[in-house]
Amino acid sequence: MTLQIYNTLTREKETFKPIEDGKVRMYVCGPTVYNYIHIGNARPIIVFDTVRRYLTYRGYNVNFVSNFTDVDDKLIRAAEELKLTVPEVADKFIGAYFDDVDRLNVAKATVNPRVTENMDEIIEFISALIDKGFAYESGGDVYYRTRKFADYGKLSHQPIEDLRHGARVETNELKEEQLDFTLWKKAKPGEIYWESPFGNGRPGWHIECSTLAKKYLGDTIDIHAGGQDLIFPHHEDEIAQSESLTGHTFANYWMHNGFLNIDGEKMSKSLGNFITLHDLLEEIDPNVIRFFMLSVQYRRPISLSDATLNDAANGLERLQTAYQNLKYRLETVEEDHFELEHQDEWLEQLTELKQQFEAEMDDDFNTANAITAFYELAKRSNIYLAQDKVSVTVLREFLSMLQLFANVLGIKLEQVAVSGLEDAEIDELIEERLQARNERNFARADEIRDLLKEKNIILEDTAHGTRWKRG
Ligand code: AMP
Ligand code: ZN
Repeated sequence: MTLQIYNTLTREKETFKPIEDGKVRMYVCGPTVYNYIHIGNARPIIVFDTVRRYLTYRGYNVNFVSNFTDVDDKLIRAAEELKLTVPEVADKFIGAYFDDVDRLNVAKATVNPRVTENMDEIIEFISALIDKGFAYESGGDVYYRTRKFADYGKLSHQPIEDLRHGARVETNELKEEQLDFTLWKKAKPGEIYWESPFGNGRPGWHIECSTLAKKYLGDTIDIHAGGQDLIFPHHEDEIAQSESLTGHTFANYWMHNGFLNIDGEKMSKSLGNFITLHDLLEEIDPNVIRFFMLSVQYRRPISLSDATLNDAANGLERLQTAYQNLKYRLETVEEDHFELEHQDEWLEQLTELKQQFEAEMDDDFNTANAITAFYELAKRSNIYLAQDKVSVTVLREFLSMLQLFANVLGIKLEQVAVSGLEDAEIDELIEERLQARNERNFARADEIRDLLKEKNIILEDTAHGTRWKRG
């Protein structure tokens, strides 16, 4: 099977072919760091981290770039409200961003360039567009001459006239045409600014991504990604800027995630119907949030509610329980159960499940169906464990397959959550309890049992040792 990616540019699933063999250049539009991100914003983060994981699993070396917009109107306003400087606001929320997304098991980008650290390149890019006649200065601002770019509208599949009527652009006397967009914005008195050949000011939003993708990944990249609301105008404008400058295709594959909805509406800052990731993480296991996000194919809408989060928690628990039971059986299995009949049939079934999982992920990263294969794996593992005699080879294969699926999706099968105790810590405490009992120190043994009970860990003493599970 070859990997198929739905490309917004062609509106078709296409076979993925990177520019360079074995390498992927991927750019994901990152957050504007003026406050905590909401759960809707967490969707592209989790989805494209999973895309990256799967590409890595398929043997690609992924160069993953995602920017931080660390200066714009919202940051300037936030700085005033919080009585901080703009860089202080950016640092605060970049710190908060990493704290939160680390918990979601999101891998660090290869680079997270900040706009303010790449101002020379941005100014150079704008100057080159002016030289080529694609941009013009006006009253201290610089605008992109949209109509001059013949392919404008190719990503949104709309003729330029329709876009012009649909766009909620404010009338601006400084523009030649209302569809022209800002590349450089003149600073108002007292605002943070950078010096440039066009005067003191700061860059517009779209130009940063064109500049940073070019700087860190080259003129043409493989995958450019973000939420569906970025198709127009953000990505359309990025294409115009980049392609009119370099003369090359900007990105070969454009991927866009669908919206996360709450009560049937898109979660967004402007509607005020948002829950910050920071707050949700106080209540919900990060693993559950990640699993929930992957329970729907990334292009489809996903609905956040107590019920859908609950379903995710239950589904994840099924997988975690299968994993725990398997691990326990492996630790306690008896020697004479090693060589058994039907071993090859079971191993064959496992190979088929792995192929099924890969085929689903190859089909435009269909994590929803891949999770169905994951459940099937857990179910078969439970059936296998219900037998009296088991083969260690098959057990190990089940375990490694569960781990493999979990790693691709970025899910943890070791349960931590409620008790706050890691599996290894629990094992250590159980070992200590056993030792205490051997030394007839029953007081200490009971103390450990009570401590674990308090943490919701239930112990079960069996002929093969002490087994535990989370209550
Ligand atoms: P913003 O802060 O609005 O620029 O959004 C940052 C990222 O989150 C972009 O890729 C958006 O497309 C994406 N995004 C914003 N709201 C939602 C939502 N409700 N569901 C899915 N993605 C979203
Ligand atoms: Zn962007």
